[in-house]
Amino acid sequence: METVDKINVAEIFGENVFDDRVMQERLPKKTYQKLKQTIQEGRELDAETADVIAHEMKEWAIEKGATHYTHWFQPLTGVTAEKHDSFISAPKEDGKVLMSFSGKELVKGEPDASSFPSGGLRATFEARGYTSWDPTSPAFVREDASGATLCIPTAFCSYTGEALDQKTPLLRSMEAINEQSLRLLRLLGNTTSKRVLPSVGAEQEYFIIDRDKYLKRKDLIYTGRTLFGRMPAKGQEMDDHYFGTIRERIAAFMRDVDIELWKLGVTSKTEHNEVAPGQHELAPIYSVANVAVDHNHLVMETMKRVAYKHNLYCLLHEKPFAGVNGSGKHNNWSLVTDDGINLIDPGKSPHENIQFLLVLTCIIAAVDDHAELLRESAADVGNDHRLGANEAPPAIMSIFLGDQLQDVLEQLIHTGTATHSIVGSKMNTEIKALPEFMKDATDRNRTSPFAFTGNKFEFRSVGSQDSIGEANVVLNTIVAEAFSNACDYIEAAEDKDQAVHDYIKKLATEHQRILFNGDGYAPEWVEEAAKRGLPNLKSMVDAIPVLTEEKTVAMFKKFHVFSETELQSRAEIEYEQYSKQINIEGRAMLNICTKQIIPAVIKFETKVANSINAMVTAVPDIDVSVQTELLTETADLLSAARTSMASLSDAVEKGSQLLSTDAAAAAHVYHDEVMKYMEELRVSVDNLEQLVGKEDWPMPSYGDLLFEV
Ligand code: ADP
Ligand code: MG
Repeated sequence: METVDKINVAEIFGENVFDDRVMQERLPKKTYQKLKQTIQEGRELDAETADVIAHEMKEWAIEKGATHYTHWFQPLTGVTAEKHDSFISAPKEDGKVLMSFSGKELVKGEPDASSFPSGGLRATFEARGYTSWDPTSPAFVREDASGATLCIPTAFCSYTGEALDQKTPLLRSMEAINEQSLRLLRLLGNTTSKRVLPSVGAEQEYFIIDRDKYLKRKDLIYTGRTLFGRMPAKGQEMDDHYFGTIRERIAAFMRDVDIELWKLGVTSKTEHNEVAPGQHELAPIYSVANVAVDHNHLVMETMKRVAYKHNLYCLLHEKPFAGVNGSGKHNNWSLVTDDGINLIDPGKSPHENIQFLLVLTCIIAAVDDHAELLRESAADVGNDHRLGANEAPPAIMSIFLGDQLQDVLEQLIHTGTATHSIVGSKMNTEIKALPEFMKDATDRNRTSPFAFTGNKFEFRSVGSQDSIGEANVVLNTIVAEAFSNACDYIEAAEDKDQAVHDYIKKLATEHQRILFNGDGYAPEWVEEAAKRGLPNLKSMVDAIPVLTEEKTVAMFKKFHVFSETELQSRAEIEYEQYSKQINIEGRAMLNICTKQIIPAVIKFETKVANSINAMVTAVPDIDVSVQTELLTETADLLSAARTSMASLSDAVEKGSQLLSTDAAAAAHVYHDEVMKYMEELRVSVDNLEQLVGKEDWPMPSYGDLLFEV
């Protein structure tokens, strides 16, 4: 076995990050302090300070081998974007070049906004767009095939200041939650905390397959998922893959991913195999929301890049394989003050923790009031195969609290006061050699989209390839609104203590319907949820309209997170993205059928027909019923496939004609018609795969992809 070099994690961790330690070391004291003020208090940075920082950043990056710098940003394409510039400045008279990087170049960039989605903002405004430095997320040097590049995390706005990215609204929502949390804390007597920030930890699921096999699947290449394919004889029914011994090849890949991420200051912490064969998960230690969003992008990019080096391919799509568990991203979220108080931590006796109960009931109210918006925040095209399909978590938003908190709230609702909290019991394994430990007071629930997990909420609906940006924008803002409502109520009351108590009870009572501790996959839940009046938005197309509903617009406006124009543009972009993605999938199916599957089936049929002829010639009354049946069946399926192809082709045509004039109408055609014919076509083709010999089928099977890595 190949031996791996020993590494010193502490030494390499953050080695490529221009972090606080580096800044303290390298920046003049005054500059460092000014930057800290900018980061901590949101103060503006003056040009002179920016110049000093830029110079040091450049010197440091050059020492790390960097030749270029880039503003690294998150346009609404779902992936990050960058425009590289080298540090080189015009040659001097002696022909020598200098390496330069000014404060202006650090603070402001100008990529061509017209090449990124703007959802109509571009039509009404100029094509100009600016990236501006987010000093709260540290710059880093990334090493790849193009050498080393200094990457500067930035926000991306149009000329008139509209957000064109994920980061701008996120930073605005962090301001909103900070302001309203502090207002709430002050009312409850806290005079010390100065800032409240959301902490986020994103658990990332993904599939790894062999790259040579990947290259033989046009559907994976064009769309990131398989458009055809049958489950192999062995599926995930044995659950034997879960936490299984991570195969050597995968282990080597994971180790490299960890090292790369550690260098970038990403605290990659846990990795294990997931439920499905070929599926894995990576989780970092949580950090401040905007850093966590940046880091999650780095995780996805790094996994793709490292997989390539190992001749593997990393599939981030939510549903790469039909019939096999899909991938998601659990967004763990809490609120933490600068002096270390986690507002979501119930402590030992939650029933006495008034602050916690107020925060908790506000969150419950927020999720209930904006369930549709929260569901929308997790909508992306691939995620439609999870939410609302027969997979975890369901599209119905509900909250799992666990026995302990559920009980406290029920006491409050029924008697007006909570007098006790259920406590965990001692774990009894009946084995003396095992150490004793206390069980948690609450078990887990894996089916809930929004689960309380000890000292945080885990929002499990986000798709594996989606940015976690939008989900956190929504979480921060809806909770800011709930806090603001609570403050309005309490501030207006004479007896503040009584008001807090009454308000907790009021919220718990009014929003009970959103609490659900049972099995979220059960069909009974769908019925029960409908009775409770909970929304069930099955697809992205159904969810998009909530972005521009009056309630949504009013809230985002009030907290300065999105203007109405920005929301309209986002809705437009999402319709477009949906249509474009399904359009690609539909066209890819037609192409693969025409160029690969039909010719393969015909070849197979010819082989069978020739063999029937040869057999009958040799032995006139030989039994060729099996061969004949096979031929008839494949011919029937092929003709069914042709019929579906014709319908699919018409539907794709109809959708693409609408796309330029009415994005919403186009999205509906893609959802209602194109998807339907795609499914129909797939059934015929998957049945053909079952009949046609392995050596005649034109692409690797599910079995090849999932079990032979
Ligand atoms: P679980 O077993 O509930 O999934 P883990 O300890 O595996 O919990 O953590 C899952 C993710 O949640 C990790 O990324 C972790 O850093 C993050 N996390 C833990 N505590 C918090 C918190 N208070 N706020 C936000 N994220 C957290
Ligand atoms: Mg989890």
